[in-house]
Amino acid sequence: MLVMRKIILIKIAFNPRSKGLPNDAGYIIKSNRKYRVIDVYLNDRKETIIHVLETKNHELTIDDYIKGIINWNRRYKIMQSHTATHILASIMCNEYGTLIIGGHIFSEYSYDDYSLDAYDSEILEKL
Ligand SMILES: [Zn+2]
Repeated sequence: MLVMRKIILIKIAFNPRSKGLPNDAGYIIKSNRKYRVIDVYLNDRKETIIHVLETKNHELTIDDYIKGIINWNRRYKIMQSHTATHILASIMCNEYGTLIIGGHIFSEYSYDDYSLDAYDSEILEKL
């Protein structure tokens, strides 16, 4: 059975999930042990970034030197998707006077909700 362990790092490179954007994923490496990072988030006070590791046992301790490896393919897809949503939002605002009222970006796809008065397939085809 895999157990999830949470760690806090002094310096971080992993983006936490926030405001419709997903967290980074990847690995934390200490010596020869590799821990998969399955979640990264801010604590309730938004002061500390928590890294959730998938591991059977806990070998990380305070003052350990570790190496973090971000899943770059995932991060890059998120970045591209994020940029695309801003481009579409700009077109929707400038051409049709609509604003985003919701949405979410995932590593494989994203969606936005717009404040159109009614569904208009012509607008979607133009986009
Ligand atoms: Zn943005």
